[in-house]
Amino acid sequence: MFRGTFAVVNLQAITRNVENIIGLLGPETKLLVAVKAAGYGHGIVQAAQAVIQGGGHALGVASLEEGMELRKAGITAPVLVFGRVPVHGLPVAARHRIAVTMTSNWEDEGLGTCDPPLDVHIKLDTGMSRLGYQDPAVAVNLAKWIESRSDLRFAGLYSHLACADAQDAAHLTAQVARFDKALRVFEQHGLRPPAVHLANSAGTFRNKALHHDMVRVGVSAYGYPPSPDFPLPIPLQPALSLFAQIQRLAFIDIGETVSYGATFTAKRKTLVATVPVGYADGYFRVLSNQSQVYVRGQLAPVIGNVCMDQLMVDVTDVLGIQNGDWVTLYGQAAPDEWNQVEFLKHPETEITKYVEATFAKVATQPAVVSLDTLARLAGTISYELMCALSERVPRIYF
Ligand code: PLP
Repeated sequence: MFRGTFAVVNLQAITRNVENIIGLLGPETKLLVAVKAAGYGHGIVQAAQAVIQGGGHALGVASLEEGMELRKAGITAPVLVFGRVPVHGLPVAARHRIAVTMTSNWEDEGLGTCDPPLDVHIKLDTGMSRLGYQDPAVAVNLAKWIESRSDLRFAGLYSHLACADAQDAAHLTAQVARFDKALRVFEQHGLRPPAVHLANSAGTFRNKALHHDMVRVGVSAYGYPPSPDFPLPIPLQPALSLFAQIQRLAFIDIGETVSYGATFTAKRKTLVATVPVGYADGYFRVLSNQSQVYVRGQLAPVIGNVCMDQLMVDVTDVLGIQNGDWVTLYGQAAPDEWNQVEFLKHPETEITKYVEATFAKVATQPAVVSLDTLARLAGTISYELMCALSERVPRIYF
């Protein structure tokens, strides 16, 4: 490893979060964890393994491709694709024993035979206006068609909540009412699939009545609340930390500027640290002159525009700062030892071992820079920052 930029993915934190979430569920309720979008940036296969280790029952993905990646890695847990799979993908899903969401009329679209039988979840649109059937009667007819075929199994009925994290419960209440009403229509027709599911992280934490047969959480498994001020009934441990090593330290004089566009002008003699993380790594440019990083036990401001591959930090007030020091962009504090040992010069496997051994000391600490803080500054949500961590950033799994 040469660049001096890597993320640590704390799989033990994911496992613990999953265990804690399961602790909230009744014995009949299963937990599905969304590992779509590369496990919210944490690595789809590694996140899935951590989820299973913690007792998670099933995995949620956005596409059949993501589901097949899990199968290719030997993961045998139930997988559900939330997004649309076209009819020519359905026999493929069946072969991989991946359950799918019905979002269109496959009879009209000429579905071939599925072998082994395909697990199908019907999605209801109860107010998200994204995917699913608005009219329960249409969904009931599709469920009957599914049941009439020996190569399809009506495995689930679900919907997705748009505002379960909002203080004002009006939208949530309306969605729940629509969902419950649709469930009654299904029951009147004698249709009751094995898995009725509605709640995301926010719904899961908010109200046990929303748990049904299964809950589908994402963000909370990775250690963040669904929104920054959301009251959590259990502790969550953030699983993602991003670190980089200072590449240059240089003083600039009063009046000198920093980075493209010269958006920062020094008002004092300023010590500038150059850090090899930029917007191409997923550290948003909108954070320019807004955010702070953590180095040598304190916060220091990002100054000037964030570049594609680097950003600059005012470290004038950071006691003992040295070139080569490790900076936390988000997550837990870089262990102190990293500033004393030049571990990057070692082969990859030894670096990994060293990072694992030293990270253990900080692994259960709170984040010194929270993704929620950065998200607020960037006008977004923690989810987007997690997913944005680019592929070029090496992940070290702890
Ligand atoms: N269910 C579906 C259908 C989703 O699309 C998602 C994520 O967007 C989730 C569950 C998990 O949501 P959260 O990460 O808010 O827990």
